[in-house]
Amino acid sequence: MRLLSHGLSDTGLRRESNEDAFVIEPELGLFAVADGMGGHAAGEVAAQLATDALRDDLLRTAASETREPGDRLQSAVLEANRRICDSIVEHEERRGMGTTLVAALVANHRAVIAHVGDSRAYLLRGATLHRLTTDHSWVLEQVRMGLLTEEAAERHPMRNIVTRALGSRTMAGPELSEVRLEPDDILLLCSDGLNTMISDAEIREILLAHARDPAGACRALVAAANERGGEDNTTVVVVRCVGEGACAR
Ligand code: CA
Repeated sequence: MRLLSHGLSDTGLRRESNEDAFVIEPELGLFAVADGMGGHAAGEVAAQLATDALRDDLLRTAASETREPGDRLQSAVLEANRRICDSIVEHEERRGMGTTLVAALVANHRAVIAHVGDSRAYLLRGATLHRLTTDHSWVLEQVRMGLLTEEAAERHPMRNIVTRALGSRTMAGPELSEVRLEPDDILLLCSDGLNTMISDAEIREILLAHARDPAGACRALVAAANERGGEDNTTVVVVRCVGEGACAR
């Protein structure tokens, strides 16, 4: 199975800077989105440190064939956390910086997904959009406890509060899951600038309309978030799984 991928990051219409980052390394099977926080330069630094650390660590362990992809991805996320924490120690002005992270490591027709915070992974299979991650956010915890409805959570003033982020020595670690990939599956990784501006139903429509064109899907997703107000930075990575022989169709 071949992977076709594209990523796009946009400042949006309200923010002065873009504190998101993404990484696409098809050779490593690595795709990730990070949404930095901490204001101005610090948020940008945290997101970039996280995506760089993932790439470096997975490159370092690429030859260790005995390790499971999930173990390798988990180690890489912990390395990213360590680098951000070390950077905070070295640079007083970076105190309080952190970042969310959602990453997919694809190998042998499987994708291991790791996430920390409220950046999301979705899978479009056929005409159905599946959400692969559960936000580490205050509002979704309330939903899980039955104290808020999903609809109320989407409009709640505290919807941006994440309960887990890279940049803390006591970070609980990433949440890991795994999905077997099938031909024509489409993976989407995104920062919350996308899913707070447009609904899952709209995300599904756009992915379906650009099912064969990851770059077109990225442009359409970002454009839709901006048309709806573009209140946050929006970052998307779209990965299309192309089955053997699919090109001939
Ligand atoms: Ca954001």
